Amino acid sequence: MTALRCTGLSRSFGALRAVDGVDLTVEPGARHALIGPNGAGKSTLFRLVTGTLKAHTGRVELAGRDVTRLSDVARCRLGMSQTMQHASLFGSMTAAETVALAVARHDGGRISPLPRRRCAVRARADELLAEVGLADRGDVPVPALSHGERKQLEVALALACRPSLLLLDEPAAGMSPAESARLLALLTALPKEITVLFVEHDLDLVFSLADSVTVLHLGRVLLSGKPDEVRSSEAVREAYLGAGRREELFLP
Ligand code: ADP
Ligand code: MG
Repeated sequence: MTALRCTGLSRSFGALRAVDGVDLTVEPGARHALIGPNGAGKSTLFRLVTGTLKAHTGRVELAGRDVTRLSDVARCRLGMSQTMQHASLFGSMTAAETVALAVARHDGGRISPLPRRRCAVRARADELLAEVGLADRGDVPVPALSHGERKQLEVALALACRPSLLLLDEPAAGMSPAESARLLALLTALPKEITVLFVEHDLDLVFSLADSVTVLHLGRVLLSGKPDEVRSSEAVREAYLGAGRREELFLP
């Protein structure tokens, strides 16, 4: 059974077909990258998958179950989780408090006044912080974290929902090379029970992590295949660089 199957997904904005009849299959345990030039439709496709945006046509299946008509919250309950882009919304809370809130919301619905339950939530939050490499940063207020650390925290928040499918939209955006390397290590170490679909501009990170790649161009799938097929594709090179340009796009 596939982890995620999209069939004929489309979404227009006015006359613009941002996502235009996309078929996408993500196998269980995959580290599947979605790449393509700016404006290709990657973020729109993500939003159709997570349900934060309604598709005009097509179908989304999560582990064989049709979720097309389900809300984003319902899809999340079924195991689909995405990185939240605005961890800083939690204002002056610490990293650990922020994760504890996500754990409590997912596991119990609200923060419990019972000390034992509070301890369990806090222990799970500490575990998640350790998993994303923030074990020593739990007491730091979110606004005081570095950009890279906030991105790591977003992954911890997504993992708090115990997802089977984790969606990351440009997790390395704005990261320094060192932060990016830390993120790669963290994503590489995630258990294989979690399938990962990620959009990323940093092609080094894409080819270090991905075992399958889908290239979007003008809202359509240009190519879907193994990283080596994508690297050597003339069509992909042209989509990125324009026809006739000869630069080396993917370094070995
Ligand atoms: P990518 O993530 O690949 O850069 P997007 O999915 O963000 O591309 O955008 C695809 C196209 O759809 C772009 O031309 C973008 O301007 C357009 N678009 C995205 N969201 C909206 C929206 N809410 N309203 C109008 N146009 C949009
Ligand atoms: Mg985008």
